[in-house]
Amino acid sequence: MNLHSNASDQVEGSPWDNKGLLQSQELYRYVLETSVYPREPEPLKEIRAITANLPDFYMGTTPDSGQLIAMLLNLLNAKNTIELGVFTGYSLLLTALTIPDDGKILAIDSNLESYELGLPVIRKAGVEHKINFKHSPALPVLDKLLEDDKNRGSFDFAFVDADKTNYGNYHERLMKMMKIGGLIVYDNTLWYGTLAMPEESVHKLMRSERSYLLEFNKFLAADTRIQISQVSLGDGMTICRRLF
Ligand code: SAM
Ligand code: CA
Repeated sequence: MNLHSNASDQVEGSPWDNKGLLQSQELYRYVLETSVYPREPEPLKEIRAITANLPDFYMGTTPDSGQLIAMLLNLLNAKNTIELGVFTGYSLLLTALTIPDDGKILAIDSNLESYELGLPVIRKAGVEHKINFKHSPALPVLDKLLEDDKNRGSFDFAFVDADKTNYGNYHERLMKMMKIGGLIVYDNTLWYGTLAMPEESVHKLMRSERSYLLEFNKFLAADTRIQISQVSLGDGMTICRRLF
């Protein structure tokens, strides 16, 4: 098992080429090898190695994005968090390793199989008690949570990485669930760099998310309820802070 394996090794030339928005494999590798891999906790390396063998390995959160997420969680002293889109659990385990021992993560994914691939690593890391995994599409779970007033204004942090074309629906619900000052982080908001390309030059597999995210990014920019920062890291993350 090569714990330093990098998804970017396996996608060169494919539409999911994961060299990041730097558009240079060499520079991306430099960032990972200099600043990221040396500090990446061992259990996260293990999840990454398990994920690297899967056909849809490119879906895993990149470790450079993970570093920023961990810093945001620490800065917020986040304790009550939610994640939409777990896959094999890289961002979930990262969150579980970062929040305090009595912290909680409500993690939702419609696919149980991929979660179960990473679960032994989560267990071995001793952080499973912080995780409440729901095997379900995310929207009905959020709607159910909102029926109970105690879930309103109660979350410190949300990481959204499930189906991109539902981001607007997630946003309306999460805005009610976050504390004032809480963060919602949307992943892949620059969609492999395709947002600035003419549609005809974009691979067909990527077009529907591309056109959805073009609108969603404009929507977030106009949403006065949040402060935002569009971060050009990984595949683009938009950090939103609930203002009121
Ligand atoms: N955050 C993960 C990580 O760090 O590896 C990657 C998540 S992956 C990009 C997207 C995940 O969203 C997949 O596991 C998929 O099953 C899940 N998903 C897709 N549509 C969903 C939905 N409507 N509700 C919940 N999960 C969904
Ligand atoms: Ca992602």
